[in-house]
Amino acid sequence: MSNLHSKPNQVADRLIKGLAFDGNVRIVAARTTGLVENARRIHDTWPTATAAFGRTLTGGLLMSALADEGEEITLQIMGSGPIGRLMAISTGTGKVKGTIGEPHVNLRLNQEGKLDVGGAVGLPGKLLVIKCQGEKAPYHGMVPLVSGEIGEDLAEYYYRSEQIPTAVGVGVKVNPGGEVVTAGGFIIQALPGLSGEELDRLTGLLSALTGVTDELTQAGSVEDFVSRILAGEDWRKLAESELVYACDCHRKRFEKALIALGKKEIEELLSATGRIETVCQFCRQKHDFTREDTKSWFK
Ligand SMILES: [Zn+2]
Repeated sequence: MSNLHSKPNQVADRLIKGLAFDGNVRIVAARTTGLVENARRIHDTWPTATAAFGRTLTGGLLMSALADEGEEITLQIMGSGPIGRLMAISTGTGKVKGTIGEPHVNLRLNQEGKLDVGGAVGLPGKLLVIKCQGEKAPYHGMVPLVSGEIGEDLAEYYYRSEQIPTAVGVGVKVNPGGEVVTAGGFIIQALPGLSGEELDRLTGLLSALTGVTDELTQAGSVEDFVSRILAGEDWRKLAESELVYACDCHRKRFEKALIALGKKEIEELLSATGRIETVCQFCRQKHDFTREDTKSWFK
């Protein structure tokens, strides 16, 4: 599908993993501009919704980079604001897809002059993380939303649910036409070997950050972005991957879901126009089923 591909002139979205502070700090950082713009076009999101959705997709990808191999992460943000439920499903291979309850949300800028993601998400609310891996029973972790700004909420999740001191920054910037010009983020985790003095130094660096999209705009690469965040501290890269908004839906899956509705329901759906149209909630691709198609479904 052409609308899932980045514009050819865009810099590829990338994620890198690294270690700093003598291996006692883990960092993942990513530029997600192209995939968030793809998501905006697919879901027709308005600016505040674009920022909330883009932060969720970016957060999911960053979390996947920290997860075990083969794990699929479903991140859900369920606030009480106008945007409804946000969802991102991501894998460690750099793929993400998602849904947004109400894409047409555009609020006034907040007091800091930024897109009011916290207002669009709305408190009170919950953040749910589901980790699935093969045949293993899925892991569920849930925390209350702290601000609805998503970065802080993810940090709270790691602290409360996984007991890891974590800083998370995610950001999306749109132009006056609503297109995504910069998106990305980072997760930094303090590992048990980090000393109190080093933790203070790290906290100082993070509080001096001007903002994710500002730092990303000024950085030439994701490596530069990490160096800017760590402000001259030594770090080394462990791995990197390309990122993409991708959906793996296919016609058979929709056919199965329709068959599960039962013969009576299918007859009713067909009675109006003689066909049934399904739309994928992740990529908006449509599949059309005619009466002829359904003949083999029920014996
Ligand atoms: Zn799809």
